[in-house]
Amino acid sequence: MTPTAVVSRRGLDRIRAGHPWIYRSDVLSVSAEPGDLVRVVSDRERSADWAFFSSESQIALRLVSHQDAIDERTLLRERLQRAIAYRGTLGIDATACRLVHGEADLLPSLIVDQYGEYLVVQTLSQGVDRRLPLITELLVDLVHPRGILARNDPRVRRLEGLEEQVEVIHGDVPDQIETREGAATYVVDVRRGQKTGLFLDQRENHLAAAGYARGRALDAFTYQGGFALAMANRCESVLALDSSTAAVMSTRQHAERNGLANVEVREANVFDELRELQVSGEQFDTIVLDPPAFAKNRASVERAIAGYKEINLRALKLLRTGGTLLTCSCSYNVDEALFLDVLGAAAADAQVTVSLVEKRMQARDHPVLLNVPETYYLKCIVLRKV
Ligand code: SAH
Repeated sequence: MTPTAVVSRRGLDRIRAGHPWIYRSDVLSVSAEPGDLVRVVSDRERSADWAFFSSESQIALRLVSHQDAIDERTLLRERLQRAIAYRGTLGIDATACRLVHGEADLLPSLIVDQYGEYLVVQTLSQGVDRRLPLITELLVDLVHPRGILARNDPRVRRLEGLEEQVEVIHGDVPDQIETREGAATYVVDVRRGQKTGLFLDQRENHLAAAGYARGRALDAFTYQGGFALAMANRCESVLALDSSTAAVMSTRQHAERNGLANVEVREANVFDELRELQVSGEQFDTIVLDPPAFAKNRASVERAIAGYKEINLRALKLLRTGGTLLTCSCSYNVDEALFLDVLGAAAADAQVTVSLVEKRMQARDHPVLLNVPETYYLKCIVLRKV
């Protein structure tokens, strides 16, 4: 018997409106095993949708196809092929990028990042997790990597009842992978680094920042130096800040291996350091703010807004007239409109006039789905102090 989920009218309407998820509260009954590809039906209308079923998550169904009949292997192969081909059209000037971005590539909960000759895979819900062996086989066939690491330690896996584990599932994967982004080279630790090693979603913004950079630059929340290294060639000096000792050490190493003697890396809490820089009368021509997600859920939005406002207000005060502020938020609970409001309030409190130069998003290899607001998470707003 075909595994089946009977969903409410509301659940079906959600899919019809272009959203790929159906929540548990909209599932009336289900006969399926965890991770099964199920037929989605409603009590009124027989639909031709197929979805991955999760027995644990609040997101019970993740839409996979509207086709009548599907062959899993063919479908996965075509989707992977299409996702990879799309990245090939982007003119990416780097050896690392995201090949598969989950729902946005019609491969729900599947992440595949490429670091040179290696792949890092995350299977973040039951459907794709169960199919990891098949996905591995298809990726080997399509990309011919020297090794594939399953970096399955994100906490979201707990919501799916899946274990957190990191293991090599094909070939060998070295501890350090040399990676190039634009002119800068990095040594990436794909087992222990944040996300899958680098913030690939900021790649295009790093390059954009290089275009704006001049004079004295500040890169607050630098991690491994993503913005700092991209800007260093274009300006007199860069001060990079991060509170993590490991991040500071690796940014220093990266600056050194790229021969960038004008990058100073300081271990500091950005909130304190911005205040101190202001007290000592320092000024910058270019400032980047790229904090971690302050609002991880809806309950923390209020606090997050206060945090975003504070760092942006201080940055605007530290910025010279005519200078550029590139300010980011990766909290999807703070959407673009709200983030712009916060920036406007910060400018008003700082008593400065600011023009909106550019609105940027996550890099194009992390696509945004038009009908799924949750997929537009990274805002990168470029402002000029008039
Ligand atoms: N800009 C980076 C990514 C930044 S990730 C890039 O483009 O690659 C966020 C970084 O902020 C992490 O490295 C984390 O260690 C650091 N961080 C978090 N809270 C901080 C704080 N209060 N002060 C300084 N750094 C902080």
